[in-house]
Amino acid sequence: MTTTSKLDYEVIVIGAGVCGIYQIKRLMDLGVNATVLEAAPDLGGTWYWNRYPGARFDSESYTYGYSFSEELLQEWHWKERFSSQPENLKYLNFVADKFGLRGHMQFNAKVVSAHFEEDAGNDDSSRWRLQLEDGRELTSRFVIMSVGLLSIPTLPRLEGMESFKGESFHTFYWPHNPVEMAGKKVAVIGTGATAIQVIGEIADKVGELTVFQRRPNWGAPLNNSAISDDEMAQIREGYDAIFATCARTPGGFEHEPDRRGFWEVSRAERVALWDQLYDEPGFAIWLRNFREIFTDEDANAELSEYIAERIRQRVEDPDTAEKLIPRDHGFGVQRVPMETHYYEAFNRDNVHLVDISETPLERVTETGLETTGGHYEFDMIVYATGFDALTGAYDRIDIRGVDGVRLREQWRDGPSTYLGMLVHGYPNLIMPSGPQSGSASTNYPRGIENGVNWCTSFLEYLWERGIGRAEASQSAQGDWTEHVKQMYSVMLMRKAKSWFTGYNSNVEGHEEGKIRYLVYNGGTPKYVSRITEVAAGGYTGIVLSSRSAPPPAGEHYPQGHAAD
Ligand code: NAP
Repeated sequence: MTTTSKLDYEVIVIGAGVCGIYQIKRLMDLGVNATVLEAAPDLGGTWYWNRYPGARFDSESYTYGYSFSEELLQEWHWKERFSSQPENLKYLNFVADKFGLRGHMQFNAKVVSAHFEEDAGNDDSSRWRLQLEDGRELTSRFVIMSVGLLSIPTLPRLEGMESFKGESFHTFYWPHNPVEMAGKKVAVIGTGATAIQVIGEIADKVGELTVFQRRPNWGAPLNNSAISDDEMAQIREGYDAIFATCARTPGGFEHEPDRRGFWEVSRAERVALWDQLYDEPGFAIWLRNFREIFTDEDANAELSEYIAERIRQRVEDPDTAEKLIPRDHGFGVQRVPMETHYYEAFNRDNVHLVDISETPLERVTETGLETTGGHYEFDMIVYATGFDALTGAYDRIDIRGVDGVRLREQWRDGPSTYLGMLVHGYPNLIMPSGPQSGSASTNYPRGIENGVNWCTSFLEYLWERGIGRAEASQSAQGDWTEHVKQMYSVMLMRKAKSWFTGYNSNVEGHEEGKIRYLVYNGGTPKYVSRITEVAAGGYTGIVLSSRSAPPPAGEHYPQGHAAD
């Protein structure tokens, strides 16, 4: 163990997506010696990778953008209510360039391991040592994980996948060069939020499209539209109110729940509300609805039947319509895929649905896909098969804490954290939007800004006091994890096989059965009030140890390059 050499950085941020971009901005403003390490060739995270046709926000664009800079808010023009991937990536680049952040980012810098090192009795010597895939080794006092929630795509474990002679890719790795689809026979495997976007977009652009569905999902119309100059001017004037609304809603969106009791209004009134919400943009039908739809089986069943009827009205073939209606979970118990002409796609002669719950996929062949019901020939196979959510990105880095204990092992049966931001046994490892934090189940950037602001204030607190080591206490972590579990127990989502409960049929140990408590379900206001209370109490639940030699007065912040 090296204990004498100086650190390369005070803070290393891993990941240059929505979170990493804002985190490095905050650190640069403080003049901290920090860098961002990003595995990809450029910034953008989710919006760098997911270039598949139809990829766009499910949050209203103007609620998704950063809120930290009035100048930025006034300069950027969102062109669509639900902006598309190319525009979103342009936006993140605009932000990075405007604030000069790119120079603090290193690309193609994939972190393969992060090991905590400390010398007993000398807290000043503790450090994180990171190994990069390119062979470099870097040290820092703090590591900030901004590795994304859905950044590890997962493929089916099917025989023969490498033998396919046509083009095939996971939607996350959609090629950067234009993909020629006209006239081609295309397979899409999966019917999650991603597939639902892809299918709606490509149905009329390909030769033949065959959708392989194992379990249907509940989609609802996105109802996207352009934003005119006049509307944008109004949005700019109203930003304060927009962000205030996001801050008080459970999901961090501009949609506020209907606070009337589900059973207190008549069935006719409920249907009238649903008729209206179904035609409104975005998550209105999900989040402007009655609150009981998330917790009360009967309320949820009634809404689910309403949505099922809508699907039957939109899909001409009754058998296909029935296949597209989920039976194993109710509407809204997982993040609702927002769709544009998804159901209508199945009315086209060139679009076919194969129910692989009846005839399972057996293998990939040189020319296509084989199910127990027969062989299908394709030019292209699109895997829209999801992600190793939330903990996947942590599992892919060999993270070792005190005494070399592997985080991957600690989290084998699911994560355990304090506030979703710290982990006992992993001092100075900070997660602005980690598992069990408030970001995962909300409008992501709203959660991110809360997380990054809290983490940055926490670091300032440590630097101002010469504290070199911060670690969540085991009991605080136990209490938080128990609290997160308790909240699952009242939500119907606990019964759904989705990434919110840690289900992924393609990842060993995540197939079925055991719930992983991955997200905090208490909503934004409660989460923010809890983390604010912790900060106000002097960071209760976190064991803070002073450096052996506190920094001299007036030199609290670790500025400049420590290795110089
Ligand atoms: P997903 O919801 O996990 O869906 C994956 C799909 O692939 C499911 O239909 C799954 O079927 C199927 N699948 C997986 N492995 C399979 C296999 N071996 N054989 C057959 N089918 C298989 O993943 P996703 O669609 O990428 O969405 C993930 C999350 O990303 C969403 O919940 C959402 O939060 C986010 N997202 C957001 C947007 C947006 O609008 N901003 C867009 C896309 C995604 P089973 O269910 O049967 O396993």
